[in-house]
Amino acid sequence: MSKKPAAPRQAPAIKAGLHPRNAHLHRYDFALLIAASPELASFVARNAYGDESIDFADPAAVKALNRALLIQYYGVRDWDIPPGYLCPPIPGRADYLHYLADLLADSVDGKLQTGPDIRVLDIGCGANLIYPLIGQAVYGWQFVGSEVDADALANAGRILAANPAAQAAISLRLQRQPELFFRELVHAGECFDLSMCNPPFHASLEQASAGSQRKWRNLGKQQAAGQQPVLNFGGHGGELWCEGGEEAFICRMIAESASMPTCCVWFTSLVSKAGSLPAIYRALQAAGATASHTIDMAQGQKQSRIVAWSFFTPSQQNAWRKMRQGR
Ligand code: SAH
Repeated sequence: MSKKPAAPRQAPAIKAGLHPRNAHLHRYDFALLIAASPELASFVARNAYGDESIDFADPAAVKALNRALLIQYYGVRDWDIPPGYLCPPIPGRADYLHYLADLLADSVDGKLQTGPDIRVLDIGCGANLIYPLIGQAVYGWQFVGSEVDADALANAGRILAANPAAQAAISLRLQRQPELFFRELVHAGECFDLSMCNPPFHASLEQASAGSQRKWRNLGKQQAAGQQPVLNFGGHGGELWCEGGEEAFICRMIAESASMPTCCVWFTSLVSKAGSLPAIYRALQAAGATASHTIDMAQGQKQSRIVAWSFFTPSQQNAWRKMRQGR
């Protein structure tokens, strides 16, 4: 007689959907993380499954986890963000970089492109500087992080000051004109291999706070009447919303990129909402992109994607490939 399998007691050890090179495929090893960053210990407790975990609704706990992950896996010390700024989920942020590495490798016989010859522009690096920190540590790439928020940029500068290897490879630039991305920022004749961006995705402050309340409820927390939700992953106004939401933000970026077609070999952006894609594809067509890709990503239940586009002609792509093959 066949026996019905017992319901699994534990959540799966592998986090569904992450890129195979992601360092966070497996359940967090809290003993290892606490050894790397002892302050994490006070936030770790057994959850309903009997497993060690943290309270993901507690911003201090999420920050302590990030500090430990950044030391243990990326050698980044003294990472911190000012109160109220976005505290990024590290596994998902790392995924974007791994897929970008694949995008470059696909153009060079599948060979991963590592080292400081690869230059990446991170548009909106935030106070957390997360993409440059991970990308530099994992692939050795050089980064320029841009920001319109001078306070965020100052914090990014403090993180770099505590991390000499990162400081040597990452530079920061203030974009003084919030409606621009490349102009007034990229120097004449400068060419990046990649640009990347995690755009503010809500269209208004009201929408952003409704999103916060939804996340809060999903974490099983009750909100006292009249109390603003304290978001576990935080978020300062400009990190969460912009006029027209991510769709308008990315479409403006595409239009501007067409006017500086050789400043990046590949322009890319994260797209959180599938509903933003039709307008983005129309904008790419209107801009005359010579190539574009949509790269699907998943972090557990959450689906997102990267849209990548280029204005390089086939002969420019070829010249770039030959240059990379020669290295
Ligand atoms: N990269 C970080 C922060 C993303 S939030 C992360 O993934 O966690 C989006 C950021 O884009 C905000 O910090 C906002 O200030 C910045 N931003 C908005 N418009 C910008 C522009 N035109 N140029 C550069 N940064 C911009």
